[in-house]
Amino acid sequence: MIAPLIDPFARAITYLRVSVTDRCDFRCVYCMSEHMEFLPKKELLTLEELDRLCTTFVGLGVEKLRITGGEPLVRRGIMTFFQNMSRHLESGALKELTLTTNGSQLGKYAAELAACGVRRVNVSLDTLDAEKFAKITRWGRLPQVLAGIEAARAAGLKVKINTVALKGVNEDELFTLAEWCAAEGHDLTFIEVMPMGDMGEEDRLHQYWPLSDLRAQLATRYTLTELSDRTGGPARYVRLEETGQRIGFITPLTHNFCESCNRVRVTCTGDLFMCLGQEDRADLRSPLRATEDDVELRTAIRAAIARKPKGHDFDYSRQTVAGQMSRHMSHTGG
Ligand code: SAM
Ligand code: SF4
Repeated sequence: MIAPLIDPFARAITYLRVSVTDRCDFRCVYCMSEHMEFLPKKELLTLEELDRLCTTFVGLGVEKLRITGGEPLVRRGIMTFFQNMSRHLESGALKELTLTTNGSQLGKYAAELAACGVRRVNVSLDTLDAEKFAKITRWGRLPQVLAGIEAARAAGLKVKINTVALKGVNEDELFTLAEWCAAEGHDLTFIEVMPMGDMGEEDRLHQYWPLSDLRAQLATRYTLTELSDRTGGPARYVRLEETGQRIGFITPLTHNFCESCNRVRVTCTGDLFMCLGQEDRADLRSPLRATEDDVELRTAIRAAIARKPKGHDFDYSRQTVAGQMSRHMSHTGG
């Protein structure tokens, strides 16, 4: 029996998010600059290395694996990776294999993902207005994403919509989005915009729409019942009594959720981040490339988990972006 991953605060690490690429077919304004420079290919973990890495984490007790990016579905050969990961679902070691996507490629891949044992998918969608969608994503087109979501549903995947709350941008669509999700049977989670990347500090503050505010607006139309469901992550949930729908709020800036954190992230270059909001990282690519067996890799993972910090330092409360991270979300994987 191999000992599971337990951090210094007695939190068991059972959830791994892996970014498989830094590239994307969109250029969302809060995530990327218009002219992003992407990493040279040799810096990225190969699909075989990603397999070894994930398999090692599964061997150390990770039960939930979320694939993200960049846009995970634009990585060449990614379906082979999903097919290979499905062996861990079949063995029972992995309880859930899932992904976060912008939805643009779901039309093409939803059925294959379902065949690999994926049951749920998170799709990021901030607006139902085609013009606004094109503005926010710069390169994205709404009809393609809506068709992708439809394909996911047709393939039997449960869809959760993730919406970044953007002041002055999708504020006026709060009820439209909630009603559309209720009608389509999708869960909905709102995310507070986070100070990531190198985009102007002022922009982030300007767009910051606190979810406490959003929630108060929802309560003007619906009866909200607080739910106790926690997933070990930053989301809190309510049920809208009128529709029965569950709505989540991810508020990394106004609430501290760190005490129940069960997750770590690996970037597409093999850097392990023990906390989304801290710079400390561990290089896993070197041990992966150093030898063919996974002994060094396991040692490096354990050493990193032993220094997982207690929490993050994001704070907007002083009207400046404190604790701002220099890396982009597309590197770490949201
Ligand atoms: N491309 C995929 C997508 O858009 O779902 C996966 C990667 S994306 C980086 C993951 C999530 O991060 C998306 O839901 C996106 O909206 C969110 N995100 C990106 N930048 C963000 C920011 N500055 N603040 C809050 N959420 C952000
Ligand atoms: Fe691409 Fe997702 Fe970032 Fe948008 S949020 S640019 S879709 S990685």
